[in-house]
Amino acid sequence: MHNTEIGIFILNAPLFKKYEVSAFDGDIIDILFFNGAIDCFCPKCGTHSIFQGQNDDPNRRQHKINLSLGFDAPNATKKERKLTGVYILDFYCSRDRDHKLHFILKVDDQKMIKIGQSPSPLEIMQNDFKQYKQLLGASFSDLNSAVILYSNNFGVASFTHLRRIIENFFMVEAFKAYESQKGTYSGTPYNELRFKDKFNLVRDYLPETFTENPKLYSIASSGIHSLTEEKCREYFIPLKDCIILCLDEMLADIKKRAMKANVKESLGKIASSIGKNQS
Ligand SMILES: [Zn+2]
Repeated sequence: MHNTEIGIFILNAPLFKKYEVSAFDGDIIDILFFNGAIDCFCPKCGTHSIFQGQNDDPNRRQHKINLSLGFDAPNATKKERKLTGVYILDFYCSRDRDHKLHFILKVDDQKMIKIGQSPSPLEIMQNDFKQYKQLLGASFSDLNSAVILYSNNFGVASFTHLRRIIENFFMVEAFKAYESQKGTYSGTPYNELRFKDKFNLVRDYLPETFTENPKLYSIASSGIHSLTEEKCREYFIPLKDCIILCLDEMLADIKKRAMKANVKESLGKIASSIGKNQS
């Protein structure tokens, strides 16, 4: 795993999910002693920041060397026994060294579990999501619920809330935009259409990120009952990130339209004042 990937993994791994140590291959040591940077929202700064690792003190360095040597040994039991323990990872915000990010990882019985995090995943994501509150309206609570459930390792339940955002927000907003441009729709009631038919009807009114990512559509349209807990957890972060990109796109569009209107109004005033001065 690349350093960036390890940082993203440590940040996004839900609490208490058990990962087989063998699944990380040789990367397990790099994860347990990760000293790279983590890019995430800093609740104390109120904005995104880079958190730098603080895990290179002599004790941890020595521990890492000892484990690395043991890990390379052919004796699997020894390797297993040596890794068992609790690992604390500390990071500091590059804007202010007093803003900290901590993770606690535990290895036991050949499984690695993230058993603690501060600030909590919820605190990091919820603060980051505040900017979407007005835009999402009633669907904002789905975004919050999705994050709470995912950070507590509930796959299907968290995924269901993301799907609700797609169905109750993006698809509904796109239908409103469709009707405002094309007039009242008179076919089969929109709510009764299958997801695929809804999508085909309003695709020109959905955020580009939505239509450019057919995976989002296929994941969203696949039956929730056909997805396992594990699959839902696996799909959660990419689906959440895609939703965030769509929301960013919509916010940028709103901002652009507001700026255009302001510029038009200001230029109109200037033109009329020039006209008055010339007359
Ligand atoms: Zn900070």
